[in-house]
Amino acid sequence: MRKGVRFIVSGFAGVGKGTVVKELLKKHEGYILSVSATTRAPRDYEQDGREYFFISQERFDEMVEEDAFLEYARYTGQCYGTPKAFVDEQLSLGKNVILEIEVQGALQVKKRYPDTPLIFIVPPSIEELRNRLIGRGTETAEKIAKRLARAKEEAEMISLYDYVLVNDDAGECAERLHSLIETVHAQVQRNGEMIRELRRQAQELL
Ligand code: 5GP
Repeated sequence: MRKGVRFIVSGFAGVGKGTVVKELLKKHEGYILSVSATTRAPRDYEQDGREYFFISQERFDEMVEEDAFLEYARYTGQCYGTPKAFVDEQLSLGKNVILEIEVQGALQVKKRYPDTPLIFIVPPSIEELRNRLIGRGTETAEKIAKRLARAKEEAEMISLYDYVLVNDDAGECAERLHSLIETVHAQVQRNGEMIRELRRQAQELL
């Protein structure tokens, strides 16, 4: 069994990265989404344990103390973190684990595990992004302004990422993401065991 790939998907608020990830999970086996903990309030459609674990600031601080997070960050005034145990367990089961997280957290994971591919999803244009954020209707004007300001900051950080994908169509973007992860699986350094076994067989036969 091959070991799973842990990879990061980031993108500006409203870029549709959630939809891309959903398409990927729907169309391809072998992927699982890491469910983060957050101190922000749930949106109408969100369920505890599905989109996020919605926890108090006190509980979040406790988890930081317990070293329970692979990474954590503040984003527009709220805390978000990736519970570590789940990710490790799924990787060892051979699942590709998707971390849908923002830039600061992504860089923390990259520092800890440099072989983690960092993928940034961008919109076809910023005008389109603004329209999507307003059209989503889940946020107040003030929150939208905060998220657009954060997008401007994050745009400066894209050069720290490994790959960029344009979300012109969520289904197509998900297919390109899948191809990318398959390519990562093919990296020589991820196939050490198989290569060693082939060498051993060659030694024996020749
Ligand atoms: P939202 O509040 O829109 O669900 O998420 C806000 C931002 O936080 C998004 O960019 C999302 O990817 C990011 N995010 C979600 N979970 C985590 C996490 O566990 N860690 C970090 N660093 N960012 C996260």
